[in-house]
Amino acid sequence: MPRTDVMLADHRLAAAQETLGRTLVKGAVASAQQRVREGLADPGGAVDAALALLPATAGGLKHVVNATGVLVHTNLGRAPLSPAAVAAVTAAAGYADVEFDLAGGQRAKRGRTALAALAHAVPEAQAVHVVNNNAAALSLAATALAQDKEIVVSRGELVEIGDGFRLPELLESTGARLREVGTTNRTVLRDYLEACGTETGFILKVHPSNFRIEGFTADVSIDELATAGPPVVADIGSGLLRPDPLLPDEPDAAGALRQGAALVTASGDKLLGGPQAGLLLGDADLVERLRRHPLARALRVDKLTLAALEATLRGPRPPLDRYLHVDVGELTDRAKRLARRLGRRAEVVATIARVGGGGAPGVALPSAGIAVDQALAVRLRSNDPPVVGRITGGRLVLDLRAVEPGQDEVIAAAVEHACT
Ligand SMILES: *Cc1c(COP(=O)(O)O)cnc(C)c1O
Repeated sequence: MPRTDVMLADHRLAAAQETLGRTLVKGAVASAQQRVREGLADPGGAVDAALALLPATAGGLKHVVNATGVLVHTNLGRAPLSPAAVAAVTAAAGYADVEFDLAGGQRAKRGRTALAALAHAVPEAQAVHVVNNNAAALSLAATALAQDKEIVVSRGELVEIGDGFRLPELLESTGARLREVGTTNRTVLRDYLEACGTETGFILKVHPSNFRIEGFTADVSIDELATAGPPVVADIGSGLLRPDPLLPDEPDAAGALRQGAALVTASGDKLLGGPQAGLLLGDADLVERLRRHPLARALRVDKLTLAALEATLRGPRPPLDRYLHVDVGELTDRAKRLARRLGRRAEVVATIARVGGGGAPGVALPSAGIAVDQALAVRLRSNDPPVVGRITGGRLVLDLRAVEPGQDEVIAAAVEHACT
């Protein structure tokens, strides 16, 4: 059995300790020795075995090829950052001028350039603020504007956002009381008017971003609600800043403000295609009240988020926007090339991709990919990098809509490797 200190002294494993740290490399060495003991590797190959077991980074998270056809996949980290955003994160990772004016040598407003980029993107907003995520944005609004008061909200908009988290419970946890109005399927303006009074903190309008109610329905638009008196807070969910013709039912921040919302809340890592963040846009006085509230400090975003958000807003189109609008003919051509390369192992399939956790539950995006033996799913997930598809009709479908064209080669090599 090769000794641990001898293995760690190997120049390749010594180099790995520089990038990954001693603990991770020692862990890989121990696993490699175990493989030798079990007869799965020979003693002469112990160092190679340890090298193969090393993680790509010390960070724990693995980069994954998302071939599920779900563009905003919460389990896979929602929106992928653009290369410009990644570069901005890297630049901000060390010491950075996040709260410092380099010209004057003085303290400056935290994240001012990112906030300016958001304000520039939505001129309809008098002021903007950014917190950890949309749930934090709603908590802050409820705490600062409706603690010990009422939030008037339709029964059709009491949403569970996922993983058991429910907006009504989140709002009540701030000390605000919910004043539910209307019914699951129908709420009209009169319901709101009868509920609004001196106790009202604000009227909340929540976009049903992950479900649809069809049939005998009625709801009240923001412009009608804006006539009721109290401020209207609109949770638009997905983070579209402008309307997208492909997603006609998705509200956008600019539109909600034009219709009279006093405050709009949204996620940064859904359809905006940026980092996890909660965007708050709207009335200058309200935004200032939120910004100055003690809770704001607990929901503050870090410099990495600010950097990624600004690059998403100012830089080239984020990947998510490209995936959403890519031409299906292009995807089909890529699928055909892949299938030719893989021969009998793969077949071109027309698929339907989805926006996913990020919104637009009714939107079907025509897409293309390849179908392979479903028995390959486990081996593809253990590939480096892992390739995650979706099982449909007894086969594993690898949908190309959320895959960078440059990663088709990764998929081909992974399928070939999984077949051997
Ligand atoms: C996704 C979503 C949320 C939660 O947003 P996070 O950024 O995940 O906290 C809240 N409201 C709506 C309507 C959503 O779609």
